Amino acid sequence: MCKVIAICNQKGGVSKTTTTANLGVGLVRAGKKVLVIDADPQGNLSQSLGIENPDELEVALPNIMEQIMTGEEVDVTQGIVHHKEGLDLMPCNIDLSAVDVSLVHVLSREFIMKTYVDSMREFYDYILIDCMPSLGVITINSLTASDSVLIPVQAAYLPVKGLEQLIKTISLVKKLLNQEIQFEGILISMLNARTNYAKDIMELIMEYYGEAIPIFESKIPFSVKAAETSAAGVSIFTLDKKHPVAQAYEKLTEEVIAHE
Ligand code: ATP
Ligand code: MG
Repeated sequence: MCKVIAICNQKGGVSKTTTTANLGVGLVRAGKKVLVIDADPQGNLSQSLGIENPDELEVALPNIMEQIMTGEEVDVTQGIVHHKEGLDLMPCNIDLSAVDVSLVHVLSREFIMKTYVDSMREFYDYILIDCMPSLGVITINSLTASDSVLIPVQAAYLPVKGLEQLIKTISLVKKLLNQEIQFEGILISMLNARTNYAKDIMELIMEYYGEAIPIFESKIPFSVKAAETSAAGVSIFTLDKKHPVAQAYEKLTEEVIAHE
């Protein structure tokens, strides 16, 4: 059985991509077969997994979505990049912006990504989708393709308030497009646990959302080490596996597996 998890928040810079890469490698280290899909025209996940220039790739997610839109059969081995830490990646690049525009005129436009993801399920235990920072049609595609949604949120007041729009959108997707979708949980990231302020934020999240949405025990600390992983093209486990950020992602991995 494969589980598909969208890593989603329309707010930019909350560690969606960092979480996709490190949770992905965490799951591989736990013996799982994992595909991560970059669903952002910025191509950040592809870059942080070592693809220097995603715009030069011959095949990436936009090509595959175009094939599906035109009714072509998709070759499931096409475009997959094997990362040295054992992860498979479906990369993405700027061409996804064009797909975004052309989707407007397409039949079943919310289901294009689902068609691809469903064809990949038999090969993996987990498929993680790194969503772009918007709630447009590409992100709706990602949510429609997923069994659950993991919401990273930066431990600060305004990002927490911004969750309402996201939760409304997920509820609509559940009603109209994908009745199976569930909340994997809220992940508090970039946490500076020493400040009282962070404590207030955590209480706020509990109070606002704690009843409706599980909140992960594991919280990702704020650390430049986390940022360095992207530049290094490897996960925190390879960069410094004793680091608190690595421990936090390992604990997150355990919690995700416990939801199986
Ligand atoms: P976008 O919305 O643009 O896709 P994102 O939500 O995917 O952004 P990331 O790209 O993962 O966010 O992270 C944003 C920036 O913060 C990056 O420079 C990243 O390296 C850095 N970062 C991620 N996690 C942490 C952390 N725990 N501590 C400090 N910096 C972090
Ligand atoms: Mg990102």
